[in-house]
Amino acid sequence: MSLHSDQGIVLRGYPFGEADRIVVLISPNQGKVRAVAKGVRRTKSRFGGRLEPLTHVDMMLYQGRNLATVTQVAVIEPFPHLRLDLDAVVTAGAMAAAVDKVVVEGEPSHRLFLLLLRGLHALEDGAGGMDLMASFLLKMMDALGQAPALRHCASCGRRGVEVLDRFSLAGGGLFCDVCDMGGAFRLRNGLTAYLSWLAAAPLSGFTGSDGEMAVDAVGLARRFVEYHIESGLAGLAYGSVSGG
Ligand SMILES: [Zn+2]
Repeated sequence: MSLHSDQGIVLRGYPFGEADRIVVLISPNQGKVRAVAKGVRRTKSRFGGRLEPLTHVDMMLYQGRNLATVTQVAVIEPFPHLRLDLDAVVTAGAMAAAVDKVVVEGEPSHRLFLLLLRGLHALEDGAGGMDLMASFLLKMMDALGQAPALRHCASCGRRGVEVLDRFSLAGGGLFCDVCDMGGAFRLRNGLTAYLSWLAAAPLSGFTGSDGEMAVDAVGLARRFVEYHIESGLAGLAYGSVSGG
């Protein structure tokens, strides 16, 4: 049992007992953290709204035998503009839900934490759109060490946008026109180059493209994530890629 300080981003919370709430956070040092915020559901809670989802906080935690308890909270970044924009809130919620699915309790998760922080900052600064979400999901797989092959054939390593026209979820990315991977589906013209651009471009640069290419990209990224984490992504109200 010990008292320690940590920072985190609140992913979600749920009621606990009569007036308490369990807060689920991602911390760079401890991965997923579940902690009790005592009395947080009372009108005069000393925590106020500081433990709302999508808030970047600094906190003191008391580690008990089973659960940690939040003893102090200071807000580092409340993301106020993001909260006023329904599209941004939906995208931020989908990002947090995706991270919630993959972050592991007790395992350091610096890259995932930074990715979510960058995603929230991008939304706060007015970035958005399906291409932002697609880029986020591709980067999330990279942070987990499971990035899809997007610049070379996942089987033979051949490069070149013009020969990489098929994608396989099980095979881990793009396949060339020579390698035969069962279950690979053909991508629409230009999607190969678009995907590798999405994986590399900074999240802050997306200005909200919801065109057909972005719809296909986010559908494919979503299916890739769901296939590899063996779970559905909640809160991601986007369609799936066609023809697969
Ligand atoms: Zn090949």
